[in-house]
Order: sequence, then C-alpha cells, then structure tokens
Amino acid sequence: MRPFTYQRATDPSAAATALATAATGNEPLTGAAAQPLAGGTTLIDLMKLDVMRPAALVDINPLAGAWSAVSLDGGNLHLGSMARMSEVAAHSDIQRNYPLIAQSLQLAASPQLRNMATLGGNVLQRTRCSYFRDVSYDICNKRNPGSGCAAMDGFNRTHAVLGTSEQCIATYPGDFAQALIALDAVVEVSGRSGSRQISFADLHRPPGATPQIETVLSPGDLIAGFSMSGPWPRSVYLKARDRQSYEFALSSAAVALDLQDGTVRDARVAIGGVATVPWRAREAEALLKGHRFDDQLAQRAAEAAFADARGRTHNSFKIGLGRRVLARALHQAAIMEI
Ligand code: FAD
Ligand code: SF4
Repeated sequence: MRPFTYQRATDPSAAATALATAATGNEPLTGAAAQPLAGGTTLIDLMKLDVMRPAALVDINPLAGAWSAVSLDGGNLHLGSMARMSEVAAHSDIQRNYPLIAQSLQLAASPQLRNMATLGGNVLQRTRCSYFRDVSYDICNKRNPGSGCAAMDGFNRTHAVLGTSEQCIATYPGDFAQALIALDAVVEVSGRSGSRQISFADLHRPPGATPQIETVLSPGDLIAGFSMSGPWPRSVYLKARDRQSYEFALSSAAVALDLQDGTVRDARVAIGGVATVPWRAREAEALLKGHRFDDQLAQRAAEAAFADARGRTHNSFKIGLGRRVLARALHQAAIMEI
C-alpha cells in the first residue's frame, strides 16, 4: 500500500475544493490524484491491487445526510448518490414503480457489498478486465496509456462486443447503469462552480483513442444524485452470468414497456455486460414502438440491438446470448401483471 492523505468532507463545496486542490499533478497511471471515498468497495480494492494510486482520499460519507434521499414525486424518481444499493433495492415504492431499478441493484454483487456500496460509486466502478486489474501486465492502454491492449489477442471471453475501439475492448461492468440509461436519467453534479445537470447517457465516454478517460467529470466533481421521470411499472432487469449470484453480467437487459391493448406505445431498452459503456439500444426501441407485441417482434428487436456487434476469439458467444437475454426480458415485461 502506498501512502495517501485522508480527510473527511464537511460539505459539498469543501469536498469539491479538497478534491480539485489535491488533483493538481495528476498521476497518469491512475486517473485523478485525489479520489472521493464512498463505500470504498471498488476504490480500496483497486488501491490494494496497486491499480489506483491516489495521493489523497476525500471521504464523502459525511454528505450522506444530504445525498441519501430516495423520493418519488408524482411518479418522478430522485435517488441520492449516497443511498446504499441494498436500501434502494428493498424500497417498496421502487419495487412497485421501477422494478428494473430494484432488480438491477438486487442482482449485483453480494448482500454485504450492497450494504456498503453507494449508487454514485456503483455507476463509477471500473472495468473488471483482468489485464487492467493485474499490474504485472504492462500492456493496458487504460492503465498505462499508449502501451497497447493485452486483451485484443489475449483471453477476451468477458470483453465487449459493442462500442469497442482499437485501443480498448473492456466491458463496462455495472448493472444499475443500464436501468439509468434506459430511463433517460439525469445526473446531478456538484462541482467547484456549483451544481449542474448532465444526461446519464453523456456521463461515460466510449474508449476511443483515450480509454483511460472514462467519464466527462472534472477533478472536484461529485455526483449528488440521479433523477428520472416515470413511473415504469412494466419493467424488468434480466442478467445472465456464470453463476447465479455474486457475479458480473455476461449479458443483461434493462427494458421498460408501455403497452396499450397489446400494442407498444413506448419502449426503453438497454443492454449490459456486452459493451464498453452503458448501452442504450435505440434500434430495438424503434422496432418495437407502434407495433403489436409478440415474441417475433421481440426477437427482431433483439437482433437489431446486436446488429453492429463484433465478436473476438473468446467472446462471440455473447452476441447470441445477448439476443436471447433481451428477447426474454421483453417477453417477461410484456406478460407482467400490473
Ligand atoms: P467506491 O469504491 O467508494 O467508489 C468507486 C469510485 O467512484 C471511486 O473512484 C470513487 O472515487 C468514485 N465515487 C464514489 N462516489 C462518488 C460520488 N458521489 N461522486 C463522484 N465520484 C464518486 N457491481 C455491479 O453492478 N454488479 C455486480 O454484479 C457486482 N459484483 C461485484 C462483486 C465484487 C466481488 C465486488 C468487489 C464488487 C462488485 N460490484 C458489482 C461492484 C460494486 O457494486 C461496486 O464496488 C460499488 O457499487 C461501488 O460503490 P462504492 O460506494 O463502494 O464506491
Ligand atoms: Fe486494458 Fe482495455 Fe485492453 Fe483491458 S481491454 S487490457 S482495460 S486496454
């Protein structure tokens, strides 16, 4: 373990200043030199592995009082970034009005992790690419920019088939983010110059030429919360993985349908475990909208979602698996009794 400073944030603006001040002199291997500490379930892991080497930690748990609220106002949902995954997954209003959110959190990690982990930390978790997480490999553009990508010709079974670049094919691993992107969530960001809102779809940057830059956040920016409109009672999060619990998605689907007399008035579709960033499948949505729902339509939508997918040596199976997961999620949403 390398030495680092630790301080507790007293309020959002003090936290932003502490983070931005400590962030001068960025450490190229690790991203920002100063990191906010929430539940610590990802950050401390990566520090122990020597993958992240922040010189300063700013503990934002004292902000939990202001940033843990979960509120449903006329169907519109606000989730504070410091709310714990387990608390939101078990919230009866969310289970009833936004089942895909409750399920995306419930199916993630383990009960112990969900009790510690926050929503803000969850969306900012980093890839599980084993070459990224093992510093004995020098070749990783995300950890060591310009070094190459060991996964391209290495073992890439869990890697992405959508949104890849010549520099990086790492999968975005989170579940909750797929529900957020499907529902057009807005992120409230608290920074040095006050608060601003960004679309959740704009938060994560595709790898492009600079896979080490993963989000549009600047040093000092903190996620305060997430908002979205709804409700979406006819919605499902379905996850396929190597074992039934405590495992990341090989493929997942977050879907929400608005059906009237069997016809799709509106559809929201996102797919996970298969792309480099949270992935909205708008081609699938376009195919569904305005048509009478049946399983053939669901199949066509699933094929459209993966039309641009590109498999590699070990991960081509994800394309067929992903189509089946999405078609099944649509079927499950359509037959829900609400
Ligand atoms: P931290 O570790 O405290 O922070 C993570 C990152 O976010 C850090 O860089 C931190 O600086 C930054 N950060 C935290 N909060 C904020 C904020 N409010 N504003 C700005 N930056 C912030 N996740 C899944 O989705 N699905 C799974 O199946 C799954 N399985 C897992 C299995 C294991 C064994 C482990 C260890 C983790 C797993 N996870 C899974 C990931 C887990 O959900 C995350 O570790 C957790 O959600 C991170 O939240 P945290 O509060 O602990 O974040
Ligand atoms: Fe690194 Fe990305 Fe390649 Fe994994 S896929 S080795 S994270 S550059």
